[in-house]
Amino acid sequence: LDLPVAGPKRVLLAAPRGYCAGVDRAVIAVEKALDHYGAPVYVRKQIVHNVHVVRELEKRGAIFVDQLDEVPMGSHVVFSAHGVSPMVKAEATERELQAIDATCPLVTKVHREALRFAKQDARILLVGHAGHEEVEGTMGHAPERTILIDSPESADTVEVPETDNLVWISQTTLSVDETMETVRRLRVRFPHLQDPPSDDICYATQNRQVAIKKVAKDADLVIVVGSANSSNSVRLVEVALEYGAKAAYRVDYADEVQQAWLEGVQTIGVTSGASVPEVLVQELLSDLAQAGYGEVEEVRTAEEDLMFSLPKELRRDVDGNA
Ligand code: SF4
Repeated sequence: LDLPVAGPKRVLLAAPRGYCAGVDRAVIAVEKALDHYGAPVYVRKQIVHNVHVVRELEKRGAIFVDQLDEVPMGSHVVFSAHGVSPMVKAEATERELQAIDATCPLVTKVHREALRFAKQDARILLVGHAGHEEVEGTMGHAPERTILIDSPESADTVEVPETDNLVWISQTTLSVDETMETVRRLRVRFPHLQDPPSDDICYATQNRQVAIKKVAKDADLVIVVGSANSSNSVRLVEVALEYGAKAAYRVDYADEVQQAWLEGVQTIGVTSGASVPEVLVQELLSDLAQAGYGEVEEVRTAEEDLMFSLPKELRRDVDGNA
């Protein structure tokens, strides 16, 4: 029996959502590089994992490539926010590329940890998703010493050659709860496992998860704006479902929302991943308003004011600072 929906239809809009400091910096880096050096500017991999951002930068003359051998000798190339391994940097030097490193400083922090632990002959357990660019870059900093743990289940079965000096680190965009579960399981098997000196899951990932948890418990439906390959966006869908949303979907654009999702729905939770421009959320809100969900209440769980300075190559060339 389909009962009519009681009460007004409304949207709970999670905050913080959308762009983090690392994404903002990486996108501005490509824009400034295009302005200063002129098109084309090459970008290794997607600068950030968002379809819309990549399309817009392509229109302005950015060329996205998978491998550096697709970049003509001597050209400008930007490394994405997800970071690169030292091998990629060496290849860029060999090909005499003008590299601009837009690796998020919070990813660089994890790279430094990996290097330091490797120097101390520690065995590093990297919690992260196989095949993700950030994981490839981090593993590349200590390939001989690092073992990837890509799920709580693999914590139960992973074989570790020596366990005396063992430390875990992680990808920056994981589910906080799932990572804690993975580490708990690792510690059952390896009681001496050391923690990293500070959280590797970044502030933006954590804040967006806290906000959607609060929204999800009151939402019949949660819509996450973000791309399929955006780790933190996909995690937001999972977290919403775990924390009480009756349904949760991810869309790149508002026009992907299906009418059937809205049937019987009174409260819609909305958020967006760390690589998503706010304009895409506003488009979604305006479509939802047309569908009767015009009342929007923001649910804010943190304030964010972190900003990173531009990559040093751009500060040198554009602003004349070393
Ligand atoms: Fe940096 Fe976190 Fe943003 Fe990734 S999600 S770019 S680690 S701030």
